[in-house]
Amino acid sequence: MEKNISRRSFLKGAAIGAAGLTIAGAGLSVSGARAEETIAWDEEYDVVVLGYGGAGANAAVAAYENGAKVLLAEKAPEGAEGGNTAVSGQFVMATDDPDGLYDYLTTLMGKFQNWDPEAVRAYCEGCAENYAWMTGPMGGDPAIISPKDHPTAGMEARNNDWKQAGSEGNLADPYKLGHNDYWYYNWAEFPEIPSSKHCLCLTATGTRFDRGYYNLCQNAVKARPIDVWFAAPGKKLITDAEGAVIGVIINKDGKDLKVKANGGVVLACGGFEHNQEMIASYLQMPYVHQQGGLYNDGDGIKMALGAGADLWHMSNSAGFTWTHKRPHLDAVSLFGGPNSGTGIYVGLGGDRFMNESAATRHGRIYIGGRWISTPMPLPAYLVQDADQLAAGKKLVSAFSDGYVDELKTGEVLMGETLEDLAEAIRNSEGGKDAPNFSTERFVAAVNAYNKRYDAGEDADYGRPFSTMVPVKKGPFYATKIGPTYFNTQGGPRKNKFGQVINTDGLPIEGLFEAGEMGSIFCDMYNGSGNLGETMVFGRIAGTNAAKRAKGEFKSEETPVTTWVGEVYAAGTTRPASALAAAAQNVTGSFKDGEYEGEGNGINGKIKVKVVIKDGKIENVEIVSHSETEGLGGVALPQYAAQTVEKQGLDIDVITGCTVSLDGYKEAVNDALGKAL
Ligand SMILES: Cc1cc2nc3c(=O)[nH]c(=O)nc-3n(C[C@H](O)[C@H](O)[C@H](O)COP(=O)(O)OP(=O)(O)OC[C@H]3O[C@@H](n4cnc5c(N)ncnc54)[C@H](O)[C@@H]3O)c2cc1C
Repeated sequence: MEKNISRRSFLKGAAIGAAGLTIAGAGLSVSGARAEETIAWDEEYDVVVLGYGGAGANAAVAAYENGAKVLLAEKAPEGAEGGNTAVSGQFVMATDDPDGLYDYLTTLMGKFQNWDPEAVRAYCEGCAENYAWMTGPMGGDPAIISPKDHPTAGMEARNNDWKQAGSEGNLADPYKLGHNDYWYYNWAEFPEIPSSKHCLCLTATGTRFDRGYYNLCQNAVKARPIDVWFAAPGKKLITDAEGAVIGVIINKDGKDLKVKANGGVVLACGGFEHNQEMIASYLQMPYVHQQGGLYNDGDGIKMALGAGADLWHMSNSAGFTWTHKRPHLDAVSLFGGPNSGTGIYVGLGGDRFMNESAATRHGRIYIGGRWISTPMPLPAYLVQDADQLAAGKKLVSAFSDGYVDELKTGEVLMGETLEDLAEAIRNSEGGKDAPNFSTERFVAAVNAYNKRYDAGEDADYGRPFSTMVPVKKGPFYATKIGPTYFNTQGGPRKNKFGQVINTDGLPIEGLFEAGEMGSIFCDMYNGSGNLGETMVFGRIAGTNAAKRAKGEFKSEETPVTTWVGEVYAAGTTRPASALAAAAQNVTGSFKDGEYEGEGNGINGKIKVKVVIKDGKIENVEIVSHSETEGLGGVALPQYAAQTVEKQGLDIDVITGCTVSLDGYKEAVNDALGKAL
């Protein structure tokens, strides 16, 4: 990424491109005169927040607390607002030590290096303020939020899951902070990471799934003169000739209203859980059933794209776990999934494919030393037998006894024999869903599973024997299962100020975001982190938009870094840092001694030892390397000889061994640097 583009020079370029700009959907044309002056605004506010979930509510409250006149516009009709926040577990991340939390969360980023250290740090520091914010401006009752004798319900059950997952225990007992006289609960999903002990969480009521946090958010909004519009989706951002966001088009009562936002627009529209096209495009899943967010269509992401935003973390989500989607319901229920220790899963080919009882950490299961999204061959089916039904082992508790009703509607399929069931699966949904479902493989898979059961061990997939039941007695039943998740994580990039970032790494003036859209989480996720973001980035975005309205906000001037990994030099597969180190040519007066150095060769590290005697390079020893024999392997000793002869690195390349030379130079420079 180019580092030295100043914001002004970028905007100058954008201004030329924006001359004669037409804002699609609004029929507005902005050319010559300042856009604000040419537009006939319908309404004017300091801060416009789109989306009345947790993030939007926090942003609106923060903006108001900072002196702004605030509009909060929500797509859903009144009563249906709240997105994922309303249906969520209500756990909000907090911490007693931002550095510790930073260490923990950045460990969760794993090999994904597309995050912004400053934004993650801002998040961790914000988490340390969540208790004060929750019990302060948000109006939470400290006596409830700090319930000394009130362990958060349900935690114990979850801990058992973690133990099954092989983690080294859990830290979820109520955890007293050293210096404060109140309690948080530690909810670390990865307790084997030592710094996880600083990952704490708050609930507004001491219990979970009770809408407590969202109620708190709504009450905080209602307690202030914040204008709230329902059934009023934000449709398009309005930008000026320099690309800054100056307002937004909101559809209200069937009319597109042009709403001016003096300080900025805060996008808090949630993710794209309800947009199957975006799911297919970004998540590499043919479909996902959502649990909440029935209005989360990715609108905020699209609006931001229209204003030039860059995206990140689009492929990440807090999932996947198996569930069954009931045909007559929009959303699936959280714990209605089939991970109940009953039946077996088979995929399209008829084969069994996983440990059906695998413990998950927000949809991640432990495979090959990493927690990765549960692989989901779709369509897939949960298969049960007559004995399981007789024992009342229902896949969905609302299913009728003996699946009588569901068999009538085709929600559950049945076959007297395994062969019959395979045929029923093949014929289901007009024969279009699983036309290639293999009888042969299916029968073989069920028989193989039963053999494992008889042997007392699932040698194929490691399912704990205590969760296994035979699938032997007909009739047999199959119910279609599919993926669900809690939420998507992708969206526009943002910086530590909650500003949306454009494709040059610079903030889009007047555009902020908060919540799960453009979340900081790029890989593994810890529960409570997303609601933590609603509070932290809601607060940050709302505050900064309000300050901007007063001319008190100073934007980032330099492009932000959202890649913490290696940057490769143009046209090469070599880190730019390694090439720079090779090109350095360290000179000066060297101290006598032996110095080791390391560089990046074509196949791995090149290690050298440089001997300095009487201030001169007396010898370069190639200590180790993995260069190609006959090429770099031959060249390295010759490079070493040339170095001694020429007393430096101004040496001739041997054809075909350029990368080895770069790696060699990097190593020698490294050693010579130590000799200065
Ligand atoms: C069952 C479940 C349990 C969960 N439990 C937890 C938990 O305990 N802790 C945790 O941290 N996370 C949890 N999550 C995730 C968490 O709830 C979400 O990530 C978080 O609530 C997102 O908040 P938000 O404000 O960004 O978005 P949402 O709460 O989804 O709100 C977005 C709002 O924007 C509105 N909107 C959409 N488009 C527009 C538009 N064009 N104009 C105006 N408004 C628009 C939507 O209608 C919605 O009201 C859970 C999720 C689920 C589904």
